[in-house]
Amino acid sequence: MTTVIDGKAAAAVLRGEVAVAALALREQSIVPTLAVVLVGDDPASAVYVKSKAKAARESNVDVRDHKLPATTTQAELMALVAQLNADPVVDGILVQLPLPAHLDSDAVIRSLDPAKDVDGLTPISLGYLAQGRPTFVPCTPKGCMRLLRDVGADLAGARAVVLGRSVLVGKPIALLLANANATVTMCHSKTKDLPGEVRRADIVVAAVGRPEMVQGDWIKDGAVVIDVGINRLATGKLVGDVAYAAAAERARAITPVPGGVGPMTIACLLENTVEAARARKR
Ligand code: NDP
Repeated sequence: MTTVIDGKAAAAVLRGEVAVAALALREQSIVPTLAVVLVGDDPASAVYVKSKAKAARESNVDVRDHKLPATTTQAELMALVAQLNADPVVDGILVQLPLPAHLDSDAVIRSLDPAKDVDGLTPISLGYLAQGRPTFVPCTPKGCMRLLRDVGADLAGARAVVLGRSVLVGKPIALLLANANATVTMCHSKTKDLPGEVRRADIVVAAVGRPEMVQGDWIKDGAVVIDVGINRLATGKLVGDVAYAAAAERARAITPVPGGVGPMTIACLLENTVEAARARKR
């Protein structure tokens, strides 16, 4: 019998923990505050920003929204980031990606104060992660690790296969798993025998963005499967990167899509914001 990993419930527990920690800081007159920068009017980003604001309110975290028009220049955006870097009220800064095509996101991310990089995207944060030092861990990878912990996955010495090597998801997950003493293989579009790699894995993390690419018979009996993928089919249905029903027949535990990794991301962002507030105002 497979365990369906309930990300919604896990995220609610985490948000509850964050709310308690944020309240304790508020009692010391420290108000955890997240600045959210949204450029342009991408509807998916707008929805995401709105749900962040709601979750933040429920977790006793203040949000300052900065909505900029799609015509914003690089200089204007960099000036806002500099202003937020210097603002003593702001603990964490989130620049909603993707930015409109005329803007250089790498330059914007590099300009963030690493002490306020609650998305864990600056080269400094990723460098610390690579060194196995404390840092802001990117939110989706952090959520995956918490789900693995919740389901009692024994990572030390486990064979972990990560599908995907993006800077936002695949690479940080691979680093986190290696830091937790797993033996990690990072796969990508040039990997020669993807089914063979996955078949050897005790832990599979799929972050590819290809609907149901990972077949059920690739999954080793008893493996734990974390599906980061969010893919919308032509029918409107959301599916992950793993063929869920067939994989669930073999996996010891598996995340559904939706309702698995997705809900954890915002909860982890709020947790990082409270950590930033605690660290900066100590
Ligand atoms: P990217 O497109 O940046 O990276 C995809 C990775 O998958 C690349 O490393 C790519 O390899 C690899 N890949 C693509 N096709 C194949 C293939 N056929 N075989 C093996 N590897 C392949 O995506 P992201 O990392 O940003 O996101 C991955 C997925 O996770 C998406 O579905 C996204 O929507 C979802 N996501 C979900 C979040 C959540 O909150 N749950 C948050 C962020 C992302 P190569 O490097 O060789 O090109």
